[in-house]
Amino acid sequence: MQDIEQSIKQVEKKYQAIFEAIDDLSLFNQRKVLECFKECRVEARHFNGTTGYGYDDIGRIKLEELYAAVFGAQSAFVRLQFGSATHALVITLRALLKPNDRIVSITGQPYDTVYSAIRSSSTGQGGCSDTSLESYGVKYDQVDLIDGSSIDLDQVNDYVSAHHPRVVFLQRSRGYQWREAITIDQIKEVSNMIHDISPDSLVFVDNCYGEFTETLEPTQVGADICVGSLIKNPGGGLAATGAYVVGRKDVVDTVSAFFYSPNLRDEIGSYESGYRMVFQGLFMAPHTVAQSLKGAVLFSAIYHDRGYSVMPLPNSYRSDITQSILLQSREELVNFCNQVQSTSPIDSHLELEPWDMPGYTEKIIMAAGTFVQGASIELSADAPVSEPYIAYIQGGLTYEHCKLSLIATLTNTTE
Ligand SMILES: *Cc1c(COP(=O)(O)O)cnc(C)c1O
Repeated sequence: MQDIEQSIKQVEKKYQAIFEAIDDLSLFNQRKVLECFKECRVEARHFNGTTGYGYDDIGRIKLEELYAAVFGAQSAFVRLQFGSATHALVITLRALLKPNDRIVSITGQPYDTVYSAIRSSSTGQGGCSDTSLESYGVKYDQVDLIDGSSIDLDQVNDYVSAHHPRVVFLQRSRGYQWREAITIDQIKEVSNMIHDISPDSLVFVDNCYGEFTETLEPTQVGADICVGSLIKNPGGGLAATGAYVVGRKDVVDTVSAFFYSPNLRDEIGSYESGYRMVFQGLFMAPHTVAQSLKGAVLFSAIYHDRGYSVMPLPNSYRSDITQSILLQSREELVNFCNQVQSTSPIDSHLELEPWDMPGYTEKIIMAAGTFVQGASIELSADAPVSEPYIAYIQGGLTYEHCKLSLIATLTNTTE
C-alpha cells in the first residue's frame, strides 16, 4: 500500500510535464466555455423548466445556443429526451440516409451499439421486425484504420471519389478496440480531403469521450455534424440524461425534423425539472475532463511500470478520456472491474457479473458505481469479457478518486 503511494508520487514527478499540459488544456477550455456563457448571456431564468409542448422554452433555446457556441458550430440540437448517445447517433444517421444512400465508416467498425443499428444481419432483433439502416436499403461500407491508429487516406480517397457517399462516418474515441483515438488534426486533414473530392458528402463524427480533450472540437475543423452524450464529457458529471447534435444548420435542422416532425423541428420540447444541472455541467466539463485525463495517465503509468501493455502510453497524446489496459486473464479482468466498483461512492458493495447488455454482441462487465446511472464521465471501467482481456477505464469526477481506485486494483483481490 505504502509502496504504491510511493510509486504514484514518483510517477507524478516523472510525468510532471504531462500533468501540467493537462492543466493548460483545462484552463484553455474553461476560458472558452466561460466566454461562451458570457457571449450567450446565460441568466438564472434559463434554468426553469416548462411543461407540455414547451413552445418558447427559453432554457432549451439558450442551452442550444450555448452548445453551438462552445462547439463553434452553426447550430445545436441538445435534448434531454435522447435516451443515450446511441439514440442520438442512430436518429442522426436515419435522418441523413435515405434508401440507396451510402455510408462509409473510415475508422473501422463503429461502436457496437451503432454498428448493430446499421447492419441488418448482425442485429439481435429480439423478435421485432428489422429496423436497421440496411433493412431500409442504406448501403454500408468500411475502411479500416492502418495499424489501428491512422486513417487510411488513400483508401478513403479512392472510396469517396468512386462512390460519393452521403455520410462519411468517423468514430473519434477507441470504443472497445485496441487502438488510439483519432486526433483533431487527423479529423481536419480527412475532412478537407473529403470536402475537396465530394462536396456533398457529410463528415459525421461520433464525438463520445472526445469533448474538451483537445483545444478544438471536430465541428471547428471541418466536421459537418457531430454527436455526443451528456452523461459523458460535456455533462461534466452533473447532467442526468441526454445527448447533443451540433454542426451545419441545414444538417441539424434535418435531424430535428426527423426527431419530431418535418414542420415542428426544434420548436417543441419541454423538460419540467429544468436545465440548471445541464448548464452547470457544461461549465464544469473542462475541469472534470482534466481530472479524468490525469486519472487515465496515472493508471497508464503505473500499469505500464508493472509490465502491462497499455494504450495510450502515459506520455502519448490523447484525444479521448479512455485508458485501455491489457490484463492477463478473465479473473484479473473481473477482479479489476470489481475493485473499481468497490471503490465507488454508489453501490460499492455489489459484486459485478458479466451481462448481456442490450446492443452488444458479447457479455460486458461494467463497473459504474455512479451517481448518474451508467455515467462514464464518472469513474468507470468496462470490458467485453472475452480475449484479449482489455479493461477500458475512463472518467473520474476527481483525480483523487481515480488514485484511490487505482490503489485498490493493485492491492486487493475479491477472492
Ligand atoms: C459510449 C459511446 C457510444 C454510445 O453511447 P451510449 O450513450 O452508451 O449509447 C458510442 N460511441 C462511442 C465512441 C462511445 O464511447
